[in-house]
Amino acid sequence: MKITFEKALDIFHYPFFKLLRTAHEIHVQNFDEQSVQISDILSVKTGGCSEDCSYCAQSVRNGAKMEKQPMLDLETVLKSARKAKERGVSRFCMSASGRCMSSNAEFEKICEMVKAVKALGLETCVTLGFLTENQATKLKESGLDYYNHNVDTSPEFYHNIASTRTIDDRIRTIEIVQKAGVNVCSGGIVGMGETNEDRIKMLVLLANLKTHPRCVPLNKLVKIPGTRVDDSNPIDDFDFVRMIALARILMPKSYVKIAAGRNTLSESTQALCIFAGANALFSSEKLLTVDNMKDNVDRKLFDRLNINVEQFNG
Ligand code: SAM
Ligand code: SF4
Repeated sequence: MKITFEKALDIFHYPFFKLLRTAHEIHVQNFDEQSVQISDILSVKTGGCSEDCSYCAQSVRNGAKMEKQPMLDLETVLKSARKAKERGVSRFCMSASGRCMSSNAEFEKICEMVKAVKALGLETCVTLGFLTENQATKLKESGLDYYNHNVDTSPEFYHNIASTRTIDDRIRTIEIVQKAGVNVCSGGIVGMGETNEDRIKMLVLLANLKTHPRCVPLNKLVKIPGTRVDDSNPIDDFDFVRMIALARILMPKSYVKIAAGRNTLSESTQALCIFAGANALFSSEKLLTVDNMKDNVDRKLFDRLNINVEQFNG
């Protein structure tokens, strides 16, 4: 059944504790409430991107100071993946800057990375921009478990954050990935100047896809000096918790991930997010080009909340 914006708006504005209770009840019906899934992410190709995404340090059209790093070699990627596995991470994500893969040779290297990381006993995820059907099939054959492709914001606000692509382009790639049988990881960024209504519309869009994304990451904008949104107002913490709760209610069986910007949330706010249904996190100290959480800080928080880290038994 289609979710209407009006219904989602109504849920978002439930009294705070009613919203938390509703989301938590749905969470325990679908997941182990004491368990979170942890991913690590590595930028395998950085900077030099010709797209104009307003938030991104890697766009050449922004004034952010960013060193370009060509595609990493396989051994460097594997070294990082082995370290992630030793830290108890179950999924290893590899991110490449750019609108799409710039050549077939580059794409083949990514397929080799996926095969080799999978062989270490880790779940695999890549984010490479737009994909063709052929590429999606080849990634699936290489052992890819997840493809990240964020819609980033509402259809109405999208033109404020990028002019070199449309949200419909993004949705096309999501459908291509789903058709190839790869799990989709798709969410967005909050705090770029959009309203709560835009944030709700983004979740309604995701909830109305033919198949819900298996994972819905919510990024708090990490302000990069020199980008076009470096002076926008951050989201209020309680509104962020409301977003998590709404995502959990609208997409009961999806993992809801607190992605970038988690290091700006207090431990108590993170605990509220987990109660409201967040059950996936990034644990790497770097998220592509920006700082994230220290592993020992996370482990202490998990211990205090009696949280177990989900293991991958693939
Ligand atoms: N180039 C590919 C693409 O655009 O899909 C993959 C890499 S891109 C860096 C991956 C995602 O990181 C973006 O879709 C965006 O949601 C997120 N991201 C980038 N910069 C961010 C920032 N400053 N704060 C929060 N999230 C950010
Ligand atoms: Fe390029 Fe992706 Fe950054 Fe957009 S989000 S500028 S496509 S690297």
